[in-house]
Amino acid sequence: MEDYPKTLLEFEARFSTEEACRDYLFQLRWPDGFICPRCRNKKTWPIGNKLFHCTQCNYKFSVIAGTIFQDTHKPLTLWFRMIWWLTGQKNGASALGLKRILGLGSYRTAWTWLHKLRRAMVRPGRENLSGIVEVDESYIGGEKAGKRGRGALGKALISIAVEINEDRIGRIRLQRIPDASSVSLVAAVQNAVSPGSIIQTDKWKGYSKLQSLGYLHEIVRSDSDPGDNLLPSCHRVASLLKRWLIGTHQGAVSHEHLDYYLDEFTFRFNRRTSTHRGKLFYRLLQNAVQIDPIPLNKIVKNVRYQRRIKAHYM
Ligand SMILES: [Zn+2]
Repeated sequence: MEDYPKTLLEFEARFSTEEACRDYLFQLRWPDGFICPRCRNKKTWPIGNKLFHCTQCNYKFSVIAGTIFQDTHKPLTLWFRMIWWLTGQKNGASALGLKRILGLGSYRTAWTWLHKLRRAMVRPGRENLSGIVEVDESYIGGEKAGKRGRGALGKALISIAVEINEDRIGRIRLQRIPDASSVSLVAAVQNAVSPGSIIQTDKWKGYSKLQSLGYLHEIVRSDSDPGDNLLPSCHRVASLLKRWLIGTHQGAVSHEHLDYYLDEFTFRFNRRTSTHRGKLFYRLLQNAVQIDPIPLNKIVKNVRYQRRIKAHYM
């Protein structure tokens, strides 16, 4: 059963305490109930804010251990508010915006949390696209006035795959690819689309191997200009993506982190028709307790910077 708040008032009434947040995570993590790994007992009892123990053998476990919330020093109520805000806004929010609205005190906390949550925007074991899928590639970033400095986005090439359901755009997948070679393009398709699907592309020769790999390849446009002049649905998605990167994130996305922004855009886009934004809140938390903790060195490369964040901002 999908159980989530539908309005801000419902959210506030429900998640005002650590206990309420922890219990919700418990439900999401063990939807069929927790079974003690030592004695198979099913009865647990909470201790403090984050721990439970088995009423039979006294085994202690934490609802956040082994999830993206592991090792956090901040209250779950704050995390929940961040996630509510992040998912409640159609276009999401920047780290700076979240720092302000939540009174986080530090940009780095907001930035680090956002990056952890982006990792949870891909559901473990999600299904690939299928049916009719339009595939093209586009350059994004670069050439924006004032955005050329170190770490700013230069030109990045991304592969775009768009499901077409009765002439309407269905789900999408976006991936950064190193170049428009056959190897890169075909790998991106194999990563995003199930074999047996109909793949529609332009005439670019990079796609010509698809037919031999179990796809039905249709060339729907006779020109072949890699990175430009996109097929219509891919064009639509690429425009929205570019607008989002510039609008919500002021174009300040580094190549190093671009993949995770693509994941966030995809998460939002694929749920754009959800009746309640609360459903996105639910999905994100559901994924967050299913994926492994993300060590800080996976988000930030600089070791001294990692230590500072760990000491002050998590
Ligand atoms: Zn036990």
